Amino acid sequence: MTNSWETIIGLEVHAQLSTESKIFCGCSTRFGDEPNANTCPVCLGLPGALPVLNRRVVELGARAALALGLQIKERSIFARKNYFYPDLPKGYQISQYDQPFSAQGVLEIMTADRDEAGHAHEWKPMIVNITRLHLEEDAGKNVHEGLPDVDRFSYIDLNRAGIPLAEIVTEPDFRSSWQAYDYVNHVRRALQWVGASEADMEKGNLRCEANVSVRRKGDTTYGTKVELKNLNSVRFMQKAIEFEVDRHIRTLEEGGRLVQETRLWDERLSETRPMRSKEEAHDYRYFPEPDLPPLVVTSDFVEQVRKSLPELPGPRAKRFSEQYGLSYADASQMTAERSLADYYEAAVVASGGNARGAANWIRSELLRELENAGLTADKSPVPAAELGALVRMIDEGRISGKQGKEVLIEMFASGKQAATIVEEKGMVQVSDKAEIDRVIDEVMAASPNQLQQYRSGKEALFGFFVGQVMTASKGKANPKVVNERLKEKLKS
Ligand SMILES: [Zn+2]
Repeated sequence: MTNSWETIIGLEVHAQLSTESKIFCGCSTRFGDEPNANTCPVCLGLPGALPVLNRRVVELGARAALALGLQIKERSIFARKNYFYPDLPKGYQISQYDQPFSAQGVLEIMTADRDEAGHAHEWKPMIVNITRLHLEEDAGKNVHEGLPDVDRFSYIDLNRAGIPLAEIVTEPDFRSSWQAYDYVNHVRRALQWVGASEADMEKGNLRCEANVSVRRKGDTTYGTKVELKNLNSVRFMQKAIEFEVDRHIRTLEEGGRLVQETRLWDERLSETRPMRSKEEAHDYRYFPEPDLPPLVVTSDFVEQVRKSLPELPGPRAKRFSEQYGLSYADASQMTAERSLADYYEAAVVASGGNARGAANWIRSELLRELENAGLTADKSPVPAAELGALVRMIDEGRISGKQGKEVLIEMFASGKQAATIVEEKGMVQVSDKAEIDRVIDEVMAASPNQLQQYRSGKEALFGFFVGQVMTASKGKANPKVVNERLKEKLKS
């Protein structure tokens, strides 16, 4: 029954642009300062105070827009969005309305369905149409916790009022919660990548809202939509959408009716609930902000910004697949962050060009250590050149892969070079056939019963001999040579 329905999702992302000062005044954007310490007549909206646009906001807005495939408009208009709310005492928010900073974005992302356990299968490209990216100021914050008499009073912190935001709105292009999930992750990475935003949902500098509806497959009109808010992580957003889709289908199949409303995700109860209805249905009465001239952005400026952008994550992942022969999953992991992609490429060079080897070592060993230490690749105690050197030593058979793991952990802890640790520990891999043959002879002489069983057909004992030889050589024997020589010698 349920698969006769189609899900329709559109997304709005608010990203805080990484400026030092606010969008229309010189107040600091620092997080965690004393409440109301970073305010002035402009961001408080006191009568007579005049806003002046921060140039850095335009630069970062342009970086964000270009990273998401949007066209930057030569001329855009700031507008007043009128509403009263305690965290917005001046009675309006300066935003953009019918003439936004940028529009008509075409963004390719990669997306995949997930199984029950959340594992992705078969990544496929998807085109997302981005309606607009516009610039606006944030409102303040009501504080209901941690202060005296909070049962009777609400407190207002206006440090956030006037913090620059980019609002990014898509067309209703998504057909599943996982597509929405992959899109928001793509946006988050792209904004971090070009330095436009820290895009950290935990700090609240990336927030998202989802518009969700369902319709019978084949229908051309949209069903009743619900707006989801209070989505504090990408995973919560995905879960909230999933919950809503189920609720919509169930309601409609039971002959019920849906109401257009705003709903909040409650993570504790794993469900959405309606927001009090008087908090919505605004008529914002937008009009052009009389205190700000139109924002004019020249094509020279846009070109300058474009040239200053690094190679973007999508194209870079594609290049990693083609140039280095990585699977999509590996290429995407190596481009999860810009610092990691840089690290990876430097390691490939230092390893003498072993692109897959470098990717394997980063994925299976280095990332775990970095994660445990809470570090990103650019802060790794093991520099890329040294990881490359380690991969090379293993390739050249100087140490075994097993020894390599031990060396890497030691490098991570001590910051020493791979070669130094190998020497200090007396790690040498033995690849010399004569020497390995000698060990094999000893092992065979010490295990006559197993040898007889093996030769009479019990081939499973091969592993036993490999283990014995590795132990006898104290792990120094080259496993590849051991295998070859054992096959040869056990026969006769
Ligand atoms: Zn201010």
